[in-house]
Amino acid sequence: MIYLYYSDRFSEYNFGPHHPLRPVRLALAYRLMEDYGLLDEGDVQVVEPPLASELELLSVHTPEYLEAVRSEMPNILFGLGIGDNPVFEGIYDASRLVAGGSIDAARRIAEEGCVAFNFAGGLHHAMPDRASGFCIFNDPALAIRTLRRKFGRVLYIDIDAHHGDGVQKVFYDDPRVLTVSIHESGRHLFPGTGFVDELGEETGFGYSVNIPLPPGSGDREYERAFEAIVPPLFEAFRPEVVVSQLGADAHYADPLADLNLTLSGYGRLVSRIGELKDQYAEGRLLALGGGGYNLGVVPVSWAAALQIMKGEEVREYLPPFWAELFKNEVGGSPLCPPDRGPVNEVQEDGGRRRRISEDLDRTLGDLRARLAEVHPRFRIIDR
Ligand SMILES: [Zn+2]
Repeated sequence: MIYLYYSDRFSEYNFGPHHPLRPVRLALAYRLMEDYGLLDEGDVQVVEPPLASELELLSVHTPEYLEAVRSEMPNILFGLGIGDNPVFEGIYDASRLVAGGSIDAARRIAEEGCVAFNFAGGLHHAMPDRASGFCIFNDPALAIRTLRRKFGRVLYIDIDAHHGDGVQKVFYDDPRVLTVSIHESGRHLFPGTGFVDELGEETGFGYSVNIPLPPGSGDREYERAFEAIVPPLFEAFRPEVVVSQLGADAHYADPLADLNLTLSGYGRLVSRIGELKDQYAEGRLLALGGGGYNLGVVPVSWAAALQIMKGEEVREYLPPFWAELFKNEVGGSPLCPPDRGPVNEVQEDGGRRRRISEDLDRTLGDLRARLAEVHPRFRIIDR
């Protein structure tokens, strides 16, 4: 069984008409899943998320921060009302709804050993005491806290274009939660962290892993980086449950990052995460959404992720009714698999291609050497 979290009220998480995070992406994703017929076969159950309770939020966030969010007042100390995170009416409950979905999903996975997908979640930048990067409450961390009550080892894998800094921060000293983030290097992109030497602290040393990619990295680089690091980490850590942040902003058409993943490359990453969770974690997976700022990419990406979780081939068409809806709501044409990728200077400029490849080689070599020192069971798979 796959539990899919959705509510029309997700649209209330809304920073305003000029903010890059557009709530309509969630409704469009849900409608696409419906129109593909993904919810008709009895293997997906749609769940209305509950609001996260104050007690649940306190497992990650400070009481002062909760109070600041509840007050709906701009407050620079808590990252509220500045730039990325404007305060809006109803911000506390809208944020609690997203968090509540991920927490409830974690609870079901602990009880039933299933797969759950909360694509409104994945708000990985929120800090215990501060809003950051469009994220108010850190639902991945809240879900991991819930899972930790039952499971000894949780593996978090984050493929959003941005570093999963908030989740890393919460579990930085915890050897029971292995966080892995693949992202565009912090030298070039928000939040400016996520380098190979951020490995954790105290007993958690070796349980934070970062794979920073050079700008321009595409499917080939993603596959190489993933296969070099992630399967050996599963083998070394042997997680009982997997939490995955599936942000869709590493796509070449995303306006915020400078990466070149295609829909096909994204789908392959989701498939590999699915295979590894079957191999190591008895099929237990909490999948979350995350970033994604091109409305023609995000719904298609998350609908593809659901198809992969169901074990289906990713459909290579868009339902006409949905394409019409998209045209009316957004305008223009969404992308659709098969996605042949960008035809741009990266493909054509062999010199830049080679520099990207050499830069990635150095990063992977450095990271593998560090991990081999910490984890005797970390074995290097050379590809
Ligand atoms: Zn992102």
